Amino acid sequence: MEPKIRTLRDQIDVLNLEILEKLSQRAAIAEAIGELQTQTGSSHYDPVREQEMLDTLTAANEGPFSDATVKSLFKQIFQASMHLEVEQAKKSYLISRAEDRPDTVVRVGEIEVGGNGSPVLIAGPCAIESKEQVEFTAERLASRGVKLFRGGAYKPRTDPYSFQGLGVEGLRIGREACDRYGLKFVAEIMDARDLAACEEHVDVLQIGARNMQNFTLLRAVGRSSKPVLLKRGLSATIQEWVMAAEYLLYEGNPNVMLCERGIRTYEPTTRNTLDVSAVALAKQETHLPVFVDVTHSGGRRDLLVPLTKAALAVGADGIMTEVHPNPAVALSDQKQQMDFDTFDAYLEATGYHKKLTPERHEVYGF
Ligand code: PEP
Ligand code: MN
Repeated sequence: MEPKIRTLRDQIDVLNLEILEKLSQRAAIAEAIGELQTQTGSSHYDPVREQEMLDTLTAANEGPFSDATVKSLFKQIFQASMHLEVEQAKKSYLISRAEDRPDTVVRVGEIEVGGNGSPVLIAGPCAIESKEQVEFTAERLASRGVKLFRGGAYKPRTDPYSFQGLGVEGLRIGREACDRYGLKFVAEIMDARDLAACEEHVDVLQIGARNMQNFTLLRAVGRSSKPVLLKRGLSATIQEWVMAAEYLLYEGNPNVMLCERGIRTYEPTTRNTLDVSAVALAKQETHLPVFVDVTHSGGRRDLLVPLTKAALAVGADGIMTEVHPNPAVALSDQKQQMDFDTFDAYLEATGYHKKLTPERHEVYGF
């Protein structure tokens, strides 16, 4: 090689290293600014500041690069710094896996959800309809080893004329039956004004799909000491879903469990489409336990077994499903709830019968 070129290239090599050193120094300062912005809640993107820097640089530019080239080079640097700041801010989210946070294990009485424990099962009717229906279901679920009983007292319904739930009376019925059969009670809260009543009767507060971004409700439930099951919204992105969980953690409630329940897609043969990647990603990105509601996902009884297998294969910490003494006469979700024969076959087919330890309780008189 021409010795002159070699000398010039050597100079370039030295300059490259100097530029790299300066860029790294600059990035460290940008990170420090980003941290302060995150702490004060201010935005990482400041277009006015960027414009000022570009003006200063072009004013000082003596060539040979054109002003446009200088601008585009520095814009790249600004973007790279911004990316660093945003990545760093993500790490500081309370839901984040960053900093090697261990799996959150949520305790509901003696039941542990999350971590390396065996996947749990939440089962029960869609809605609490009557004392008889709940007693019948609770007794049989307990006899099969189910520990977490679900049943809605406040029902979010599309049609305002359809059954809306029994309200506080439903909460009382659920509590009584759960106490009788040693079950923990999971029920939906739809309105922050019902918090006191729900806290009095319920062991796990469920936030339903339709309320996933009801930020007032999230903040109120975030201040509760009860564990929360947060369902994914009908059309919520994974990011929106985990940010909703962040509200709960931010308000001080660490006992948050996520629940994928299917999302709305163009597919009409299922009620919703179970998003298994969301389960895997929620497990990967957050330290929270993740449930899959197989009933509302498919909206079809014939999919309950395969969807449960898929959910467990992808790492779900628990499954939620609906069981009713006589689904044909249920006041909601008739098509998708299981009767007890179907439930027994379901337990067998999914392997849950081996995971559950049945307890015997005296049969209530029905
Ligand atoms: C429910 O579990 O009772 C329910 C209404 O589900 P979702 O909020 O997921 O529709
Ligand atoms: Mn239902």
